[in-house]
Amino acid sequence: MANDKAVITEHQGEEATAQKPAADPSPTAPVSSQTRPPLPHVAVPLVLCGQSALVTGANSGIGRAVALALAQAGADVVVNYVTDAPSAEAVVAEIRLEGRRALAIHADVSREDEVEAMFAQAVAEFGTLHIVVCNAGLQRDAPFHEMSLQQWNTVIGVNLTGQFLCARAAVREFMRRGVDEKVSVAAGKIIHMSSVHEIIPWATHANYAASKGGVQMLMKSLAQEVAPLRIRVNAIAPGAIRTPINTVAWKTAEAYDALMKLVPYKRIGEPEDIGRAAVWLASELSDYVTGTSLFVDGGMTLFPGFSSGG
Ligand code: NAD
Repeated sequence: MANDKAVITEHQGEEATAQKPAADPSPTAPVSSQTRPPLPHVAVPLVLCGQSALVTGANSGIGRAVALALAQAGADVVVNYVTDAPSAEAVVAEIRLEGRRALAIHADVSREDEVEAMFAQAVAEFGTLHIVVCNAGLQRDAPFHEMSLQQWNTVIGVNLTGQFLCARAAVREFMRRGVDEKVSVAAGKIIHMSSVHEIIPWATHANYAASKGGVQMLMKSLAQEVAPLRIRVNAIAPGAIRTPINTVAWKTAEAYDALMKLVPYKRIGEPEDIGRAAVWLASELSDYVTGTSLFVDGGMTLFPGFSSGG
């Protein structure tokens, strides 16, 4: 995104006033499709020092913001990508500027052999992993009667099977190492990137909604199974976040206005909103939290159609 630079600067603290976006000072003033919303100017706390993380699909959108936020919180980060190696290397460079170790690894998360090779390389490089964020995802939208098996399989393969393969590799590594209390009281933390569509049906997106509904029960079942091993498993369920996956929903003023009818908080989410949530879920601050979907959606799941009394 063209104005990402301003956001990165925001994370670095109050001294960056000159580069802050021109946020409207009134919290109730409408935010247009092109202006940055008034994200609070808070520094990411250093709560992940000594930990290493792997984020899938980390060269774009939410994954990129999560990778950068984890690094700002003190973690070393593996930046997974499947296309566009230069953008992955750019994220690696930004993380190194934070003073953390970073490594870009190519892998298609829907392929077992590539996921296994990626985790082996990550562990060889960093010694172990403490945090795995299963973020990679895509859409292949179609009216249901026209949806091809390929469209169905592609979405389920990346969004659900990909999350299974990465979570399984993470659990195996966390079980191998066990708890190292000098680093974390948990043996490991898995964060699944779900969606409000784990509970909101979505016409002409049946494959996507089915994949996210599946992610929810994958997350909960796994959380139940591995909690005794001190492995925490949670999901983030974003609402509408300004990334390339949903450009049509926010690029024009008309689309943005229509979107805002679904968002009680009256601004689109920014990738950094999700990065901050991921830092909390990965840190000891959330140590008693497992098996939960954290909705980061500006109230999209609050049935906004009933906001005037129904
Ligand atoms: P994005 O398109 O910017 O990022 C998706 C990333 O996944 C890209 O880096 C892409 O290359 C990667 N990817 C796709 N297929 C892959 C594969 N086979 N192997 C490895 N990487 C692969 O979109 P985003 O909005 O940042 O999406 C990230 C996650 O957030 C997705 O799981 C998406 O479903 C979820 N999400 C997004 C929104 C939103 O409004 N943007 C809302 C809810 C959930």
